[in-house]
Amino acid sequence: MSLRPSQTKIVATLGPASDSYETICSLIRSGVDVFRLNAAHGSLDEHGERLRRIRQAEREIGWPVGVLVDLGGPKIRLGELVGGSLECTPGMKVRFVKNDKAERVSDLTSTYPSLVDELNVGDRVMLADGTVALRVIDKKPDYAECEVIQPGLIRSRQGINLPGVKLKVAALTEADKEAVAWAMGQEVDFLGLSFVRYPDDIAALRALTSNAPVPPAIIAKIEKPEALERLEEIVSASDGVMVARGDLGVEVDIAEVAVIQKRIIQVANRLRKPVIVATQMLDSMQHSRLPTRAEVTDVANAILDGADACMLSGETAVGKYPLESVQMMHRIAMATEATMNRLRYDEEPFEIQEGNPITEAVVKHAGTMATELGAKMLITVTRSGLTTLIIAKHRFPVLTVGISESVSVLRRMSLYRGIVPLRSAPVHDTKQLLDFVLNWARRQDLVQKGDRVIFLFGTGTAPSAHNTVAVYVVD
Ligand code: PEP
Repeated sequence: MSLRPSQTKIVATLGPASDSYETICSLIRSGVDVFRLNAAHGSLDEHGERLRRIRQAEREIGWPVGVLVDLGGPKIRLGELVGGSLECTPGMKVRFVKNDKAERVSDLTSTYPSLVDELNVGDRVMLADGTVALRVIDKKPDYAECEVIQPGLIRSRQGINLPGVKLKVAALTEADKEAVAWAMGQEVDFLGLSFVRYPDDIAALRALTSNAPVPPAIIAKIEKPEALERLEEIVSASDGVMVARGDLGVEVDIAEVAVIQKRIIQVANRLRKPVIVATQMLDSMQHSRLPTRAEVTDVANAILDGADACMLSGETAVGKYPLESVQMMHRIAMATEATMNRLRYDEEPFEIQEGNPITEAVVKHAGTMATELGAKMLITVTRSGLTTLIIAKHRFPVLTVGISESVSVLRRMSLYRGIVPLRSAPVHDTKQLLDFVLNWARRQDLVQKGDRVIFLFGTGTAPSAHNTVAVYVVD
C-alpha cells in the first residue's frame, strides 16, 4: 500500500465485475478496507473462491482486510409470474394466492408460505424496490386481493416489502443458517443480519456463532420500522450497524431516510459501535465514470454525520467502473476529512465507558495533545481492539495506528474510523516497537522527519491500562 488511508473505511461488495484476483488487489490498493460477500446472491462455493482470493491478496499486499458476509435474512420474494413479468396498471386487481404456482397472469405467489394468512385488508405491499405499490382490498382463505395504487412493471423473484406489517417470519432462514455454518469454517470477520426487527434476532445469530474460536462480529442491518422502534437495544446487542438504505427507503417513507440515517449514526456513536452507511452512494457510477454532484455530497454528508464506513454495492459488484468508484469514494473521504478538525468528545458524552477508566482518561487527553501539537499519528498497542475502538469513536483528527498480534483483531479494526491496523513485530521494548512503527510509517509515506507522533502505551504498573502518553518527533 502506498496510498494514504482515509479515516473513513470503505466497504466494497464483490461480484462478477470485481472478483478476479487482479481486481481484488487493485481494489485494496485503491482503499478498500472490507469486502462484502452478499449471501443473497451467488452460491457459497462462489463466495468461498472469492474469500480465498481476498486472503491471498491480503497476504501479498500485507494489509489486513475485513470480510463481511451479508446474510439475506427473511427477505420475501415473488415466486414465478406467468410469463415472467407483469405490467401493473393503476386500479388493476391482482391476487396473492396460496398455491405454489401462479395459474393466471394476475396471480402472485411468494417465498413466504404464510403470507396470505398474515395479510389484512388495508395493508400496503411494495414490489420492485418500492416502485410498485398495492393495497389489500379483500381477503379470503385462499387469496388476498390487491389493487394497484402505484403502477409499474414487476418481475418474477423480485423482493416484496410490507411496510408496517408485523410478520411472524423467523429472523434466520434455512439459507442463512447454512451460510452461517459455512462462514464458521472460513476466515470471516463480520456477519451482516438483514431485516433485524428485535434484539432477540441478534441473540439468535449469536447463539449460532458463539462456539467459534473467534466469533465474527455481528452487524445489524437497520431497514425495518420495527428496528427503529427498538434501535438502542438492537445497537447495544450487536457489534456494529449498517444503515441499509435500500430496503429502509421502501419500508419507511423515503423522505425520512436522511434523518433516520443521522439518528442511527448518532446512536451507534453514543453506544460505541461501528456504523456503515450503505446503498446507492455512487449509484450512477455503475454506468458512468463520474458520479453526480448529489452522490458526492451524499458520501461527504455520511462522513460529516459521523459514519465509520461507507459502502459500495452494485457499483463494485456489477458496475462498469468498480475501481473508479472506490477511488472516487476515497477522494471524497480525503477531501471531507480535511475539513473535520473538531474533537468528537466536545459534542456528546459516550453512554458506555466499557474500557479501563485509566485508558479512557488517557485516550481522551491524548486527543487534545494530538490536536494542539498537530500530530501526524497516534500509535497504540491493543490486545482486544477495544482501545482502538475508543480512539475511533472520539474522532480525533489524526490517523491512529493500532498494533496487534492477532490477525482477527486487526481485521475488525478495518471498520473503525481512522484506525490503521498493523501487525506487531517480534520486539522486546517500547522503543523498539516505536522504531518498527515509524520505519513502517515512513515507507507508507504517513510521516516525515520533524513530524510529531503520539504513542499511547501501558507500563504495566496500572494493570491492563494504557497509562502513558509520550510525544516523539520523527528523526
Ligand atoms: C440495503 O437494503 O440497503 C442493503 C444493504 O441490503 P441488500 O443490499 O442486501 O439489499
